[in-house]
Amino acid sequence: MATSTVHADRIREVHLLTRQGVGPLDIAARLGITDRTVHRLRAEPQPEPQPEPQPDPGERALCRKFPHVNFTPNRRKDATEAITVCSWCPVRRDCARLALTYYYAGGVWAGVWISDNHRPETRRQLAAVANGGDAR
Ligand code: SF4
Repeated sequence: MATSTVHADRIREVHLLTRQGVGPLDIAARLGITDRTVHRLRAEPQPEPQPEPQPDPGERALCRKFPHVNFTPNRRKDATEAITVCSWCPVRRDCARLALTYYYAGGVWAGVWISDNHRPETRRQLAAVANGGDAR
């Protein structure tokens, strides 16, 4: 029987977090599953890799049109210009969905400065944008 997409995504998440050095108890807490499930998913073979996402959601991404703007600042205080560009971007919601799905880290995505995509506050902001709201 083919592995369901949801199940395959969960296996990928567990493997990804494990590679990032996150322990089973923390993985369980972040994904809302038991640590026993984490161990079971870890033991399953990784599903076929998904194609690498593009660094932006396509031709309409405004960051393509502002190459001089730094979208990968190391500090939040240097992210203001990029966040302003994102606020006008027509594909901002798709960008937030990509960032949520692939645990992007480092830089500005969808108007959210991401230092750690596993932080609940960061994910809450990205989810708000993905749902058509604001990052505040
Ligand atoms: S929301 Fe920002 S980072 Fe995302 S595609 Fe648009 S300009 Fe680029």
